[in-house]
Amino acid sequence: MADGHTSSQVGSSAVPRPGDLVVARPEGLYCPPGGFHIDAWRPVDRCIITHGHSDHARMGHNHYLAHTDSAGVLRARLGADIALQTLAYGEKIELNGVKVSLHPAGHVLGSSQVRLEHQGRVWVVSGDYKTEYDGTCTPFEPVPCQVFITESTFGLPIYRWAPQAQTFAEVNAWWHANAQEGRASVLFCYAFGKAQRILHGVDASVGTIVVHGALEPLDAAYRAAGVALPDTVRVTDEGVDAALLKRSLVLAPPSAQGTPWLRRFGSNYSDAFASGWMQLRGARRRRAVDRGFVLSDHADWPGLQAAIAGTGAERVIVTHGSVPVLVRWLSELGLEAHGFHTEYGEQDDEPPPTAEAAEAPAP
Ligand SMILES: [Zn+2]
Repeated sequence: MADGHTSSQVGSSAVPRPGDLVVARPEGLYCPPGGFHIDAWRPVDRCIITHGHSDHARMGHNHYLAHTDSAGVLRARLGADIALQTLAYGEKIELNGVKVSLHPAGHVLGSSQVRLEHQGRVWVVSGDYKTEYDGTCTPFEPVPCQVFITESTFGLPIYRWAPQAQTFAEVNAWWHANAQEGRASVLFCYAFGKAQRILHGVDASVGTIVVHGALEPLDAAYRAAGVALPDTVRVTDEGVDAALLKRSLVLAPPSAQGTPWLRRFGSNYSDAFASGWMQLRGARRRRAVDRGFVLSDHADWPGLQAAIAGTGAERVIVTHGSVPVLVRWLSELGLEAHGFHTEYGEQDDEPPPTAEAAEAPAP
């Protein structure tokens, strides 16, 4: 089916064709017949938001549309007074003749694929997604479509995630061993999505779990949406036992690394980082931590293949990550594939290795 719209267009915005339901504009992805944007990176009038990570949910739009479960996080991050309309999964609305519905993306709480239907054409914009069910958000569902717009954050054959139960067993064993030796276990993780997934997945019977204040509003949004998370304490809570802190599991955002906040856990705590990038050689060393746990909220290489095949799409547009590799692979399968230039993938959600290297503290 390849008709020339193949790897020659990698990395650039493909030339839109008549009838395209999504085009790349300088301010973001745009649906011409619907007159709205999706995850725009500059302020626009009407924007559908796939999920609350800061590279997809930007400030300054006049009207927001997102899944009901995204509301708490969006209001916490963008302002309580944003003009926000919410939809349940599968609920259909019509915007200027385009039927719009949201479907689970399995990435973080409220994350959605956006299905667009107009004059017999069906397109799906998937935002970020992962195919393994993690217990904290509605699992990914393949949505049949003619054109599928996909991420490719981990779109290289080296990225293959172990089942998350195996990763959590490793985290539990590390925490348990540290606690036995009277050491706190400080686990750095992204504040929205990863932290709550870890909270949900670890064995809370091992000991006390401490969360950094930056995680609290996000944990609260998950709890409000009905996601079971174990009890946690803050170091500023009254009556926190200092001896317990020294055997606790501490969840903190990457920005807390090297700050005085960590002093209360003593000088001999063990630290670790949880990210898909930990599969990359040298990533743990660049982060200057004792352990790296490979845990991602994005699809791995087999997950991307399965998700794309599951849609039955004949044309695939790749937005961010390893765009050329995925485009070439899909083209070789006989699909029509090309890239869109976007500004995704560079904020608080799994920053790519270049950003990671730049952020890493000096050795
Ligand atoms: Zn994301």
